[in-house]
Amino acid sequence: MSAEVLIVGAGPVGMTAAIELLRRGVDVRLIDRSEQRTELSKAVGINVQTLELLQASGLTDRLLAAGLKIRAAHLHLDGTPLADLDLTQADHRYNFLLALPQSETERLLEARLGELGGRVERLTELTGLGQDANGVRVTLRLPGGGTETMRVRALLGADGGRSTVREALSIPFLGARYEEQWSLADISVDWPYGMDAVNLFLSRGGDVLFTVPIGPDRIRAISQTAHVLELLPSGSTVTGTHWESQFRVSLRQAERYQEGACYLAGDAAHVHSPAGGRGMNLGIWDACAFAERYSAGTLAGYSAERHPIGARILGITDRMFRITALEPGLAQSARNFVLRNIVPLKPVQRLIAPNLLGIER
Ligand SMILES: Cc1cc2nc3c(=O)[nH]c(=O)nc-3n(C[C@H](O)[C@H](O)[C@H](O)COP(=O)(O)OP(=O)(O)OC[C@H]3O[C@@H](n4cnc5c(N)ncnc54)[C@H](O)[C@@H]3O)c2cc1C
Repeated sequence: MSAEVLIVGAGPVGMTAAIELLRRGVDVRLIDRSEQRTELSKAVGINVQTLELLQASGLTDRLLAAGLKIRAAHLHLDGTPLADLDLTQADHRYNFLLALPQSETERLLEARLGELGGRVERLTELTGLGQDANGVRVTLRLPGGGTETMRVRALLGADGGRSTVREALSIPFLGARYEEQWSLADISVDWPYGMDAVNLFLSRGGDVLFTVPIGPDRIRAISQTAHVLELLPSGSTVTGTHWESQFRVSLRQAERYQEGACYLAGDAAHVHSPAGGRGMNLGIWDACAFAERYSAGTLAGYSAERHPIGARILGITDRMFRITALEPGLAQSARNFVLRNIVPLKPVQRLIAPNLLGIER
């Protein structure tokens, strides 16, 4: 064996798993077929759960120093204010959402990985996988085109939504694709809404625009329509466009997260809509649970623990998406009534804020 554990995929989830194993003294290899880390901002919200989990590795303070602390959410309906949410109502030392582009989060993760003596073996792809009584046998394609076969005690597939590991294990990825064509843009904008809060712009027509500040002069705008920039409220002037993308979203979960000595984490195990900003955070939670269980010798319970948690979070994101994107009708009127009249009440805010921040009790 050239390592105890092989982690396939060095996105935020694979790197977190490697850090968590290395700091416990586990011999780990981390491979990724891509040549470099992502330069895209992708997941921009780090929630409280992640800040708590990454405390032990020393990453939380670095993330806090790099990100923006967001303490309020403003809800609007067809351009008029509907409700304000005060996230500081959450009874927690981290009573804010931390906004940081995923490229930055990954940069900090990889730096910590290096400090712990780890590294990402890039241009190294898992191409074959088999298991027997002695463990896991894998075939890797190496930089330059050579191959390597190796045995490991355990393998973690953190290789994203189109996971090679999941497919090699024949684990069904159950669910479906949403019909909507989503779009996002990272922009610099002149507008009257400030740069220190998230904004949810609802419309009676059903179109939704969500914005998150991701830098002193930059916001992420995202919509479940193909025309995100057209939904910016009047009085907004885009002064720079840094990234635009259109994408489809699926709600899928692996039927199980484990087959023999192989395990799944992150997008390899679950994908869902960006509503609620849970994707990367849920994957980081998987990674921490995997490392903890590996060290404690309790990996047998990994899937039984993680699958229901994943299903619950997928349900939350699906409900959030459906409620925000309601079409005209009774349900939408009821939602608007609740947002305008119930949500501003302080006791209600005390209940909502921890949920929005991903505080797990
Ligand atoms: C446009 C966009 C916007 C998003 N916005 C948000 C958001 O606002 N909030 C949020 O929470 N999430 C968001 N996400 C999702 C978030 O980016 C993912 O949840 C997160 O990246 C998952 O991390 P991961 O480590 O599981 O997988 P990934 O980041 O996908 O990493 C998987 C890695 O595995 C490698 N790999 C794949 N196959 C192999 C193989 N066979 N051998 C070796 N390496 C392999 C890949 O090269 C990749 O580096 C967004 C995603 C996109 C694309």
